[in-house]
Order: sequence, then structure tokens, then C-alpha cells
Amino acid sequence: SKVKEMSAEVVDSNPYSRLMALQRMGIVENYERIRDFSVAIVGIGGVGSVSAEMLTRCGIGRLLLYDYDTVELANMNRLFFRPEQVGMTKTDAAVQTLSEINPDVVLESYSLNITTVKGFEVFMESLRRQNPKNSVRDDARSAGIDLVLSCVDNYEARMVVNQACNELNQTWIESGVSEDAVSGHIQLLIPGETACFACAPPLVVASGVDERTLKREGVCAASLPTTMGVVAGLLVQNALKFLLKFGEVSPYLGYNSLKDFFPTMEMRPNPQCSNSACLERQKEYLLAKPVRDALAKAK
Ligand code: ATP
Ligand code: ZN
Repeated sequence: SKVKEMSAEVVDSNPYSRLMALQRMGIVENYERIRDFSVAIVGIGGVGSVSAEMLTRCGIGRLLLYDYDTVELANMNRLFFRPEQVGMTKTDAAVQTLSEINPDVVLESYSLNITTVKGFEVFMESLRRQNPKNSVRDDARSAGIDLVLSCVDNYEARMVVNQACNELNQTWIESGVSEDAVSGHIQLLIPGETACFACAPPLVVASGVDERTLKREGVCAASLPTTMGVVAGLLVQNALKFLLKFGEVSPYLGYNSLKDFFPTMEMRPNPQCSNSACLERQKEYLLAKPVRDALAKAK
């Protein structure tokens, strides 16, 4: 009937209805909570830009975007950026596209290098700032964000994200795509609870080779939008599970595209870690063990 068709149309024009169905199906308890969350994405390249788009389309509350680079024509073999955006900073170009897709998302653009003294200061300060749209938070934490996604392509930047998150006691998920573009990984890092990036750098563990020795000057890394799209999908899927508390968040998930092999593993923190903030978080985690055990028993 006409009435039925019309109501179907109304439902379909609401982008939330299909996501909210996850709630009706009992997958997520309260999908609408997605609007309360702030996510920081460091590196708006092949993986970070696609992750930002996915979170935007899911209705995330606020995205903080960090990158020091500008859009180049050479980036067109990746997803997300468009030729007419060449020359813009990646963060501004991303804000332009994302705000058109979902004007409700609060978007913050930080065109800076997080490994410089000034860049690190602004990075830390922005992570601490609370979401102006959030009236209440159910936890008193030093960070004003809920999750950091690392989508950078070099060791130094990852170590800086690691430092910031250890200092702020902030959970983050690291991601990476190999130089030959056919494999990738994501890794959940909870300060004190799991290995930090300095405890055991995953790329070193996975390949046995220090990433810096792979990054040769003037040698162009391979790149595939497919591998980057898969890694971004795995990254954001686990980010959603972490934020909305459904399913299981993978502690480490590898992706080998040649064999379609997805290795997983868990990494405990290293009591001899060279990062002092990591050692502090490890101490706190051990001290809180009796409380955790009692809570687990009470359940
Ligand atoms: P390619 O290296 O192949 O030219 P790319 O630099 O765009 O590509 P990606 O893997 O697609 O690399 O994305 C990584 C992103 O992380 C890049 O946009 C890069 O500018 C950003 N990035 C790397 N290091 C930093 C840093 N220290 N501060 C801010 N952004 C960074
Ligand atoms: Zn550590």
C-alpha cells in the first residue's frame, strides 16, 4: 500500500535507522552512545582517512585529526582524497569531506608534526581538552577523548603516540601496513595492562627487522587501496567494539593478504620497558589487581 511504501521511505532516509537496528537485534546495548565519544586519529593517510570516514558515517560524536602533510596527486591510488583537494593540508581536506557527509560530527583539524616539541605540546593539550558538547562523563580521566587510533607510517611517530598515551593512561589502537603493501596489522594498547609500543614494537616482532632499516630514503613504498581499506575496516570495527562494548576487541590482529591469514596474539607488558610512564602504569595495574579480582568475583 501507499502508506507502507511511504513509511519505508522515511526509515530509509534516516541514516541512523540501519545502525540503530544493531541495538534492536541485541548486538549493541545503546548504539546512540556513539554520539558521546571522541576519537583522535593520528595520520590521515591511506588508513587514517578511511577510518575517519567510517567513524563519520557511523555517527561518532567528535573526531580529532592530526597530520603534517598535504594532499598530493600521488595519493590518488588510495581511497578518500580527491584530485581537486591537491595542495590542501590532509586534515583540512578531510574536514571538508567529512563535514559534508555528516555535519553532526565535531571535527578538529591539527596540521602538525607530533614528533616536534611544539607539535607534541599541542597534541597533548588537544587530547586533554574535554568535548565541549559532552555535558556529563561517567569517568574522571585526564584525557578528554575515548580512544586514539594510530595510523602513521613510521616508528618515531608511533613512539610519540605511545609516550602520549602512556602519560595520559589512554587506550589506543595502533595500525600498520607493510612496505610491500600486502600485509598489515592492528594492535590494542592499554597502558599497564598490555605491552606498550616500547615494550615490544609489533613490526619488529612480526618481521624480525627494524622498520627503520626497511624505510630506505628515495625508495618508494608500495601501496594498495585494498590492503589499506581492509586494515581500516579491522581498525574501526575494533574501535566500535571497544567504545560500544560489544563482541571482543582483538589484542593483536594481523592480515596477510597473500594467504588470507589473520594471526592473533596477546602481549603482556615488559617489566623492563624503557618507557618510564609505561612502568608507572604497570605498577598501578598491579596495585589495582585485588579490586579487579573482587569485582570479578562479585559478578
Ligand atoms: P607515502 O609514504 O607512501 O607517500 P603517506 O605518507 O601518505 O604515503 P600513509 O601510510 O598513507 O603514508 O599515511 C601515514 C600518514 O601519517 C601520512 O599522511 C603522514 O603524513 C602521517 N604522519 C606520519 N608521521 C607523522 C607525524 N610525525 N606527525 C603527523 N603526521 C604524521
Ligand atoms: Zn612499555
